[in-house]
Amino acid sequence: MSADAQAPDLGLKPATPITCAHNRSVLGSLPFGDRADFEDARRGFIGTLPKVEFRNAEGRVIYSLEDYAFLDEEQAPDTVNPSLWRQARLNMANGLFEVTERIYQIRGFDISNMTIIEGSRGVIIIDPLISAEIARAGLELYWQHRGRKPVAAVIYSHSHVDHFGGVRGVVDEADVKAGNVIILAPDRFMEEVTKENVLAGSPMIRRAMFQFGGLLPKGPRGQVDAGLGKVTSRGTVTLIPPTQVIRDPIEVHTIDGVEIVFQLTPDTEAPAEMHMFYPGLRALNLAENATHNLHNIYPIRGAQVRDANAWAKYLNEARDRFAAKADVVFAQHHWPVWGNRRLLDYLAKQRDAYKYLHDQTLRLMNHGLKAPEIAERLALPRSLEREWHVRGYYGTFSHNSKAIYQRYLGWYDANPANLNPLPPAERAAKYVAYMGGAAAAIARAREDFARGEYRWVAEAMSQVVFAEPGSAEARALGADALEQLGYQSESATWRNAYLQGARELRGGMGLARGAPTRATSDIVRGVSLDLFFDLLGIRLDGEKAEGRTLLINWQLSDTGDRHVLTLQNCALTYLADRQASEADCTVTLDRATLNGIILRELPLAEAIAQGRITIAGDAGKLAELFALLDDFSIGFPVVEPHRAGRGA
Ligand SMILES: [Zn+2]
Repeated sequence: MSADAQAPDLGLKPATPITCAHNRSVLGSLPFGDRADFEDARRGFIGTLPKVEFRNAEGRVIYSLEDYAFLDEEQAPDTVNPSLWRQARLNMANGLFEVTERIYQIRGFDISNMTIIEGSRGVIIIDPLISAEIARAGLELYWQHRGRKPVAAVIYSHSHVDHFGGVRGVVDEADVKAGNVIILAPDRFMEEVTKENVLAGSPMIRRAMFQFGGLLPKGPRGQVDAGLGKVTSRGTVTLIPPTQVIRDPIEVHTIDGVEIVFQLTPDTEAPAEMHMFYPGLRALNLAENATHNLHNIYPIRGAQVRDANAWAKYLNEARDRFAAKADVVFAQHHWPVWGNRRLLDYLAKQRDAYKYLHDQTLRLMNHGLKAPEIAERLALPRSLEREWHVRGYYGTFSHNSKAIYQRYLGWYDANPANLNPLPPAERAAKYVAYMGGAAAAIARAREDFARGEYRWVAEAMSQVVFAEPGSAEARALGADALEQLGYQSESATWRNAYLQGARELRGGMGLARGAPTRATSDIVRGVSLDLFFDLLGIRLDGEKAEGRTLLINWQLSDTGDRHVLTLQNCALTYLADRQASEADCTVTLDRATLNGIILRELPLAEAIAQGRITIAGDAGKLAELFALLDDFSIGFPVVEPHRAGRGA
């Protein structure tokens, strides 16, 4: 273990002797002498930029590897689990790489990879990263080394933003409209993109700060990695809707001279996702279903629980159908695996890790174990535990097994004592009183801290903080416990969550305050009218709406959409393709005006004043509806109680 004397982590604590011993023990338990991943991560390297640091038009840094220079050190510092340190170093590989003849990847320029396939006329781009600025820089790096070829097609492998957001950096929408560039995506792509980003947007953004550690300083005592890659970029997120959608379980298309077999894999890592096999190139692209870590059945940023069983099934089918004819397998994160024997072994182990996780969780569930009991007991089988690519740098067996329990049985463990407990702050006040008061609880927790019982100390101090948010001692001790847990974590997402929690206990929310990041205009353009009304329903303040009734016809003048919206019993409901003859009013507007309203760029009153909205009937009713809508903020507390107030 090397010292981290140059760590840019001022004020953060060193590892305790117990954490040092824990992390040192990892060195003996895993095959650190196996260097194959380091060779694979560098294989096919062509070139990179002198400095991997990208800025947006305003000059703000949106992604940088410069802050990660501390990872040059091979030996893990005491404050990082050596297994995670290894992954963090692997994820530093960056630039343009050749995967196989005609297939190239940009890696390390964002959390995801951009794959470039050379066709007969131009190139096919798969997954243009998160930010347009970076996707552009990646394409230019490719052009610099391989010659300037036009983009013939873009393929989105799935509905997550790190696989489409940079699209305007690589294609001009005019070329798409003119038919010069086609854009392909899996079935339900647009629906899933808009749903995920719009309905539960605010809490996911806030919680993602914990998962990715984007606000943490980078360094041996801060963020070192995100498991799946370094960190998410923060540039311009764009979206051009697909011109062609893959709807059948298997579809074969020849795109710019390249034969591609698409295999839909719905409800795996994303609700809309697909694998691709390139028979002529003997290469298999598994999107995000087989990466060099155990993935998330449930990401701790919050999401609907994914189907681990389907995940294993589609990997098995892909292996059966394609792998025998492949010389290389790769994904839209991490590095490829070359050689038929190796890739067959890799895919079998990936498949089995998800299947084991799923089946053993259900087996223990069927024995009546509760989610935390299952999580405590489950671990990789011995035949898999020394396989780096199934270790939990991103997802963990622990939180994934709890998610699988949730998928089948929900949040409730069937113990009626847990059916209707007091809410967090009230419960904490009673706990702390029963503990003999905050001072007594803190004194005992200090003894447990000295013994290294960080999990318990973090929980006990959280009770004190929820009872007495102003307790500086409880906050400090709770933060110290979370910090040591972070230092010990093999999972990057757990480390980030623990360290972000420690940071907020010590310094408050800081940068986490502020308005929610607005859904980008490209994503809003893809929002269906149904989803727009779903969003209005979510924003409706039910208490304010008490006793109100509204019936409003909506007409979109350019698209011809007709919806009728009803407010009664404090609930907004709607019917598509309907108008009510007895409506209070009929609202007519065009889609661009609606987008402006959704994006909050155009206040309703202004749109009416400008004549962009016309209202037949009682115009006051539309204003009444908008006055009942809430605004959301991502500045809500996580590690301390909500202050009294509306919505809290
Ligand atoms: Zn991804």
